[in-house]
Amino acid sequence: MELSFKPFTLELKHAFTISSNSRTTTPVVLTKIEYEGVTGYGEASMPPYLGESHETALKFLSKVNLNQFNNPFELDEILTYVDSIDKKNTAAKASIDIALHDLIGKLLQKPLYEIWGFNKNKTPYTTFTIGIDTDEIVKQKVSEAGKYKILKIKLGSVNDKKLINTIREVTEKEIAVDANQGWKDKKFALDIIYWLKEKNVKMIEQPMPKDMKDEIAWLTEESPLPIFADEGIQRLNDLIEIKGVYSGINIKLMKCTGLREAHKMLTTANAIGMQTMVGCMTETSCAISAASHISPKVSWADLDGNLLIKNDPFVGIKIQHGKISLNDKPGIGLEDSNKFWKN
Ligand code: MG
Repeated sequence: MELSFKPFTLELKHAFTISSNSRTTTPVVLTKIEYEGVTGYGEASMPPYLGESHETALKFLSKVNLNQFNNPFELDEILTYVDSIDKKNTAAKASIDIALHDLIGKLLQKPLYEIWGFNKNKTPYTTFTIGIDTDEIVKQKVSEAGKYKILKIKLGSVNDKKLINTIREVTEKEIAVDANQGWKDKKFALDIIYWLKEKNVKMIEQPMPKDMKDEIAWLTEESPLPIFADEGIQRLNDLIEIKGVYSGINIKLMKCTGLREAHKMLTTANAIGMQTMVGCMTETSCAISAASHISPKVSWADLDGNLLIKNDPFVGIKIQHGKISLNDKPGIGLEDSNKFWKN
């Protein structure tokens, strides 16, 4: 098996602002694994707050030696080796995991959801993210979100109520809120969650800083809306510590090293009575398509990362009338004519 990788920079349609920062680009590294004339594609997306960069991903990937493996179906063996190379680098690890799953699907001539036994018709609607911005831009973004049935609104600043009121001037659509750890006081958080429920908000993601576990557990107990962990969960073994703290978890391939672990997190969370959602970073259609394959089993999906960029080099899983629409292509479901790797 032959691994190749190249850096690429995603250009965002709008500056992306959350409670902690603002930016206009996202560094990614695209990967491919070739085996007996078949190619699997992968991606690492590295928003700066996660601590990875072009430099760290390229350094990590240059240490990976896949030539020592002759059988891509020994996926667990291969990915355990990749995970053992270094402690962090979860996005770089995901880029290999995704390419390997794509390769295996192509060798079997089956889409991943079918290999996993999931029903392609049970995909959820995806939320469409509206970042913190001026009233005028927020209204423009809401109008661009026409076909999406659920909006995801980034809160956690002093203007939260004003932002929701601005949106409610132009639409009555359901809203999922992501506070990105922005609320620091549990009683303040509970008050605003009651207010948000009246505004047809359906769920709350990461209301408070991840280290405030006791306060978040209290909030989850008292809250009229489900509370999901995002910054508060990275990988499978974090589930042990947050059971009872949140109602559910946001699974992201770039945090958890890819599809192998995402699938395990989904199964484990469901087994211990936690809800699940699948989320993303700003990513190309490569990583978004990969994540779409676990979506038939989650309660919420936030897979709009490819819709927020201007220079997507892939064509993959589409959104139809706001719903994730899995296709019948093998592997992760990309059109196999890729400009990026041909140049
Ligand atoms: Mg989030």
